[in-house]
Amino acid sequence: MAAGHNNVAAVGTAQSNSLYGTNFLGSYSQGTSHAQVAVLKANLRQYRSITPSYLWTSTPSLDGNTSNSFDAATTANLKVFQSNSGLTADGGYGAASRNAMHTSIGVSPKGWVRIFKSTPGYVNYNDTANGIAADAMYKLDHAWCTSSCRDTLYSIGYSFYSAYSKLIEVNDGSLMDGADTPEHSTHQSGREVDIRNAGLTAAEAKKFLEICVANSNISRVIYYTNHGLTSNKIYIRADHSDHFHIDTVN
Ligand SMILES: [Zn+2]
Repeated sequence: MAAGHNNVAAVGTAQSNSLYGTNFLGSYSQGTSHAQVAVLKANLRQYRSITPSYLWTSTPSLDGNTSNSFDAATTANLKVFQSNSGLTADGGYGAASRNAMHTSIGVSPKGWVRIFKSTPGYVNYNDTANGIAADAMYKLDHAWCTSSCRDTLYSIGYSFYSAYSKLIEVNDGSLMDGADTPEHSTHQSGREVDIRNAGLTAAEAKKFLEICVANSNISRVIYYTNHGLTSNKIYIRADHSDHFHIDTVN
């Protein structure tokens, strides 16, 4: 469970490998030989088994292909997975594909869920090109939370969208099951999520605070200003000028 990957093929960097005592690569592609390639092939077999067969009519089978070698059949299967997941089908398994694999078949032993890539209420910044670039140092997947926390994100995002036709950008939650992370001092409970304020006007940020305060599953929101609102749920902290930090009850 190092770095919160569990059943899904892991990626890493020198920094995260040093931290967790792992030896993951930043990406795997044809020609790579690595134990995580065998995991990736098992992931692709599972994904293939739960998706319509017409997607795979011209793709070689990975049945019985359990070696550590990233071969042409692995590339072909990964490309189908990538295009079906809205990714560029480049045949390389890196952080974007790992995030998508987590979304598709990732299993959290604690029963946590992954924040969706996008919904009518929010966009998951962790799954955008900018978000993936911002996570390049460790390549960890901070998009996990409890199911009730994820429901709350949808709810507050949808309320905000209904007012402004603008999707909030959800950034880091926790690593799967609260694995220790070098990127946050907290964010291990599955009930903590950051929301970016990029592109929000002061009036929109104030409205977002109001929506958070009114939500019964939100116990606290940390932000650099309360925009004149008085609520004991709002904690003013100068170091939260570029995002809201939300704590949920469940
Ligand atoms: Zn936070």
